[in-house]
Amino acid sequence: MRGIAAAPGIASGPAFVYRVGHEAPPVRVLASKETVESECVRLDAALAAVREELLRFKKKSPGSVGSALAKIFDAQVMIVDDPSIRAQVKDAIGAKRLAAESAFARVVGDAQKAIERSPDPYLREMANDIEAVKTRVINQLMGHGADSEHHLSLPSIVLANTITPADIMSLQKGLVLGVVTQTGGQISHVALLAKSLGIPAVAGLGVDLRTVRPSTRLVIDGFSGAVILNPGSDTIEFFERKRRRTHSPWPKKLEALRDLPAVTVDRHKVSILANIDLAGETELAVAAGAAGVGLYRTEYLFLQQGEYPSEAKQVEVYRRAITTLAGRPLVVRSFDLGSDKAAPNAAPEANPALGVRGLRLSLEKPAILRAQFRALLAVSTLGPVWVMVPMIASVEEFEVARSIWNQAKADLRRKKIPFDSKAKFGLMIETPAAVRMAYELAQRADFFSVGTNDLVQYTTAVDRGNQRLQSLQHHWHPALWRQLDDIVKAGHRGEIPVGICGEMSGDPLAVLPLVGLGFDSLSFHPNSIPRIKALLRSVSFADCRKLAASVVASATSGQVRKLVKTFYARAARKLKP
Ligand code: PEP
Ligand code: MG
Repeated sequence: MRGIAAAPGIASGPAFVYRVGHEAPPVRVLASKETVESECVRLDAALAAVREELLRFKKKSPGSVGSALAKIFDAQVMIVDDPSIRAQVKDAIGAKRLAAESAFARVVGDAQKAIERSPDPYLREMANDIEAVKTRVINQLMGHGADSEHHLSLPSIVLANTITPADIMSLQKGLVLGVVTQTGGQISHVALLAKSLGIPAVAGLGVDLRTVRPSTRLVIDGFSGAVILNPGSDTIEFFERKRRRTHSPWPKKLEALRDLPAVTVDRHKVSILANIDLAGETELAVAAGAAGVGLYRTEYLFLQQGEYPSEAKQVEVYRRAITTLAGRPLVVRSFDLGSDKAAPNAAPEANPALGVRGLRLSLEKPAILRAQFRALLAVSTLGPVWVMVPMIASVEEFEVARSIWNQAKADLRRKKIPFDSKAKFGLMIETPAAVRMAYELAQRADFFSVGTNDLVQYTTAVDRGNQRLQSLQHHWHPALWRQLDDIVKAGHRGEIPVGICGEMSGDPLAVLPLVGLGFDSLSFHPNSIPRIKALLRSVSFADCRKLAASVVASATSGQVRKLVKTFYARAARKLKP
């Protein structure tokens, strides 16, 4: 089988089939030998087992997250104990001769839908607890045991139809050897997280992975997207050799580039920065020769522990990152939760990518944003800290964010905590609305960073995680390039630096026209840094500018592709020893 190569590396091991709650069980009617009574007994037993399990989890909830988790488990036990749910499920078993799991899914599903439509936010929050209970009970009834996340006890390759970054964080205990998903693409957040964690991943396989038997042996190749079930010894041997060969992320000769600047042959300098999801990756960024971190996705601090980190914990994490960078800039994005990085207990939304995500969510909780800004300002005396806010669609939103930034500064002044009063405050350009307002935004911001992973999806109306739209998930649409051109021009007219932190800036084909457009910095996964540096050092800025002008003038994605491929082929030939 072949999917999309989502995160590099080779993994081999047993399959762990991960199931998520919204995968409904098939509707099953009782066979003639099954009685309504025995099915009701099975239901009672499953509810009792889940109840016991929830109380066990409650007891084991560790450290600071303990009390929050305990409350969640209490709420879930109440749902398990609810006599009216139990009675309705038994009625459905009796009246419709449905198997217990089908009856439970139907009754609880109906209740969930009613709650999700409720105008009361507290009731809507409850929908998540109901979902969690539904999963556990159905898994119990279908013989999958309890919630699968607690059963990863052996190093395994996780197979899932859909999986979120939060699910991966809950599984990650050194036991996830690789990830394979039915859906998703190269820039889905799961793929980006897998890269950060160094876990090979294949996405968009397109087949129902629930049909794979647990513990089936498989090999996955995150370089080519190959997935081989039940490999023979020759195949295992072949991939083991490939694993050893590709273990180092970049060849020895590229290591020499680490301390050299990214400068074209005609002396045009670009800053090459690293995208990181976890603070610990700053070391990898430095080792790869990054001039700094261009995007630190702080929302993973939340996803790791299931709640917002305290201000003190944030100061500690940010201090470590800025100290490791030893004078290099650290560009930090405020929490960008929502959409496919939704918190596990977030209220469901019909269109999450167009919903309460990024800054919109932060503005619902301004005290949390203000505390994050304080924590970042508190380490700004240790090195250059640049802070930016995601998902801006209007000047007003940015102005509100900026006022919270100013309040955070006032808080520190009151507490007599020193900070760098010139610490930069900017924004990510990820929506076409922000592109149109770029000049006005540039007059109010200290810098721009373009998030093309999202800008592509919002420009072309293509969900970045939808596997059926794979052929449209690319960065060659001329509409995108025209917008990039507008952003750089507007930013420079407003005299602020303009960077790009979408993954496309680490694509050797895209990077040359991006440099030609005049981006001041490029930020992408550290593993790609040495190769991109070598490429930039072999071309002229004048040629890149001509290429960019032709790209912007193109009418079709096909024309853009052809232009960049021809240009790249010439540049790459020069690179060969
Ligand atoms: C982007 O949208 O391009 C970006 C860098 O942010 P993320 O991938 O985290 O949404
Ligand atoms: Mg984004």
